[in-house]
Order: sequence, then C-alpha cells, then structure tokens
Amino acid sequence: MAVHTSRTDADVNAVVGGYLRDLAFAQSSPQKMFGYKRAAAAILSLDVPLTDLVGPDGALPRISGIGPGSARIIGEVLNTGESPTVERAIDASEQRSDIERRRQLRRRFLSRAEVIRILRDPSFASLSLEDYRGDLQMHSEWSDGYPTVQQIAEACLQRGYRYAAVTDHSHGLKIAGGMSRAEAADQRRAIDDVNAHFGARFQLLQGIEANIDAAGQLDLSDDEAAVFDVVLAAPHSRLRRNEDQTERMIAAVAHPAVRILAHPRGRITGSRAGVIANWDAVFAAAVQRGVAIEIDGDPARQDLDHTLAARALEAGCLFALDSDAHTTDQLSYAETAMAHARLAGIPVDRIVNCWPVDRLLAWLSNPTSERRA
Ligand SMILES: [Zn+2]
Repeated sequence: MAVHTSRTDADVNAVVGGYLRDLAFAQSSPQKMFGYKRAAAAILSLDVPLTDLVGPDGALPRISGIGPGSARIIGEVLNTGESPTVERAIDASEQRSDIERRRQLRRRFLSRAEVIRILRDPSFASLSLEDYRGDLQMHSEWSDGYPTVQQIAEACLQRGYRYAAVTDHSHGLKIAGGMSRAEAADQRRAIDDVNAHFGARFQLLQGIEANIDAAGQLDLSDDEAAVFDVVLAAPHSRLRRNEDQTERMIAAVAHPAVRILAHPRGRITGSRAGVIANWDAVFAAAVQRGVAIEIDGDPARQDLDHTLAARALEAGCLFALDSDAHTTDQLSYAETAMAHARLAGIPVDRIVNCWPVDRLLAWLSNPTSERRA
C-alpha cells in the first residue's frame, strides 16, 4: 500500500518517522525494535525538515539517534517519497495487517518541524505565539509529573506567560498517582506560596484533571471539585472500543464543575483511535454549557486534531490549547496545539489561553457568560 506522500508533501519528517515506526514493528529483536523507535522519535522531534538538511552533495549530516539502517530509509524517502526497504521488511515480518492498522492511527499528526513551519507561515493569520498567555493543562510532582509548582511557574514566566494552571490527576486515576483531598490541600498551600512570591507578574491556578468514568461521571465529588480553580475532565479508559460513547462524553460535559474537556478522544499515535462519538453532538453540548474543548499538544496525542477542531469551531465552541506537560521542557508542546488551531482557523478570541486573566477567571466562575447569543 502506498503511503500518501510525495517529496513535495509538506511533512516529510512525519512520513520518515512513520516508516521508521513501521520498521520497528517489523523487527523480531526487541533491541532493533527499540532502535528504530528511537530513530523515529529523533526525526519527529527535529526542528527542521529533512529536506533542508541535505547538503549540495545529496548527503545528510549525522543526526543523533540515527544509525546506518535508518539513514538508508531516510535516503529512499527523500529520493522517491517511499521506502521499498521498509515494505520488504514488513512483508517478511508477517506483521503487515498490524502495521497497516498502525498507519491508519497516525493520520493528522504533525512533526515538530511541521509545527514550526505552520507557526511561521504568514498565510495562517489567526493566532501567533505572542497571543498565548497561559497553559491550562500540566502535571507536577503532585501526580505523575516531575517539576515542583515553583519550577513550573519559573518555566512559564520564561516563556512569557502571565498565568498557568497546574492540573494534576485526581484520586480516581491511581496509575497516575492521583491526588487525595489532603494532598490537594497541601498543594494549594504550595501554590499560594508561589503566587505570593511572583505577585502581579504571574498567577498559578490550581486545577485538576478529573477522570471520566464509563458512565460519564467524574472521580470527584461536588465538594472536592469546588476547591479547584479549574476542573478538566478527560477520558483515560474505554479508549479502544468500537461502540459509540456519545452519551458518556455529553454527560461529562454536562457536569456543572467541568470547564475544559481535555484530550477528548484519548487517541495515541499509531496505537489507538480513542473514543468514538457523535462529536458534533458533544460540541453542541459543550457550547450550551460554555465548556472549552481542548487541543492537547502532546506530540503523541494531538487531540483534537485540526479537522475535528474545525468542526468544533463551526459548532461555536471555545478552545483550550494546552501542553499536557509532565516536565518543564514539555511546555513547548503547547506549540503543537497552536499549530492545529492555526490550521483550523480558530480566532484568538475563541481561545481561553489568549484571554487576559480577568476574563479567564470570569469565565471559570460563570462559563455561560461567554456563550454567544
Ligand atoms: Zn489525561
């Protein structure tokens, strides 16, 4: 099967990264599989397209993480748009049906180089980096992230943000070290200290990423939800089902505490499609409640992608563009979300992260205040 690409297609790094992932899954040795996965990750996170790295002699410079086997695949794709070597390896592996399934699950994922290109392309006039004032999904040492809340505030200030929300997992998600009620109270004191330190320069909000259960309910009582400045709801289970889950997602959006529907599908590149639902109905419910739909910028998630985001825009939704960072370096993932927002043509005014903090706080306390007549 031909992958839809040619040398002139924009995202050459995504095409090469895809072939290297295919090759990884065609290996029988775990060590080789790991090596090709690492090579794919190296290409997908490059800042420039491979076509820009080719020298006048047609040779590529050394790229960290890329061995001779991967370099050969890159050469083939740059010359022909395809990789016969990978196709032969897939045929020899007897893994073709699984690999074809994975290929379908890689659609509409942008490489880092493509994200940067889109952010610089003047034909997408809707949103620029300078419009973005604060990130509303990230994880700290209080659940499955690494940084302290102080480190998060410092890193956000360095990126020019005016505010951000730390959104650790709530207690229902044991696998992610969800916070108990007592831990949330301790975290609030730590956040108060950070805010006292930075004063008017920066405001850190205490958020929570609540888990949406099978019935669309949250792992958070109303009393618990009330202590947080912002409640995100996100699905972390039933992400590989073929049945429709519209009711579940509408129930989550209808919860009075929820302000952001985070990584709405729960898709992961090359692995799972996530929740299947009538998204237009979910978006209509979100508009009614003033709930923002997230574009999660984690490179493996990119959820929503720009095509579904364009439908949410048409429905009249608000948007949150977030990094879902678990380290301070990953705050740059917000740029992936911004690239999808530019592709979808979302105006700055519809993006809650671009609002001044007063407008953000007013919406958080009364979400339907932003509903359009
Ligand atoms: Zn999550």
